[in-house]
Amino acid sequence: MFLGSVEEALSYGANAFMIYTGAPQNTVRKSTSKLNIEAGRKRMEEAGLSLDHVIVHAPYIMNLANGDPRKRAFAVEFLTKEIERTAAIGAKQIVLHPGAHVKQGVDIAIDYIVEGLNKVIANTADKDVKIALETMAGKGTEVGRTFEELQRIIAGVTDDSRISVCFDTCHTHDAGYATKDDFDAVIAEFDRIIGKDRISVFHVNDSKNPRGASKDRHENIGLGYLGFDALNYIVHHPDFIDVPKILETPYVTDSDASKDKVHPPYKYEIAMFRAGVYDPNYIEAIRSN
Ligand code: FE
Ligand code: FE
Ligand code: ZN
Repeated sequence: MFLGSVEEALSYGANAFMIYTGAPQNTVRKSTSKLNIEAGRKRMEEAGLSLDHVIVHAPYIMNLANGDPRKRAFAVEFLTKEIERTAAIGAKQIVLHPGAHVKQGVDIAIDYIVEGLNKVIANTADKDVKIALETMAGKGTEVGRTFEELQRIIAGVTDDSRISVCFDTCHTHDAGYATKDDFDAVIAEFDRIIGKDRISVFHVNDSKNPRGASKDRHENIGLGYLGFDALNYIVHHPDFIDVPKILETPYVTDSDASKDKVHPPYKYEIAMFRAGVYDPNYIEAIRSN
């Protein structure tokens, strides 16, 4: 599994990649001994890939802010195990959606999230793994739509050296930030509220919706409301050269509609960012592949 992820990343010309330790929609997990970690690490070494550029993403159904105490306890237990799996792989960070407040409101949700994170961090005190809280689009009752909410969580965590932030371009745009028109102003605000050194990974996605839509629907690079130029500016921003950038853009359907087939866009999207030039025909090239 891990070896397969390494091979897949290499096939796209990537030097960073993100993995789930099992299906993102559920909490069923194999033991780490079955993940083929050694072979994957060896392949990375041969290819010159750094473990600093391997990002794990926690399953998105996990909710540290769940109103039911038994479900919160389950989330703490599960996230603890995910961090152990992340450490077993050798990765240094796990991306986490802070949580959803459902009915109880954002203040109680933040208290629950802080409480859960403090437990998880205490459970994994010997692990060199950061929890990267993701900036959220603000869909439904998601917590973490604003930099202020993220900062309130960070401020509550006892060992905040274990917390970083995953900056998702689609999410901040959907949440209402000027990620497209004035990324530097957005980062200045982030820096004032949280500190830009907290950003440990970017999710680079275009958005299917206008700024502030609170939707969270990712679009292929250059085809959405952010556009290629804004995203290319972010990818090459001098403040974040060493920060890994991860694409989470949708697969592209085949040009032959009768073929129930989809193609990953990543090789093409990475190539455009490396060149710094948009290819208006790239989706067509992927479709007819
Ligand atoms: Fe995410
Ligand atoms: Fe994301
Ligand atoms: Zn998203």
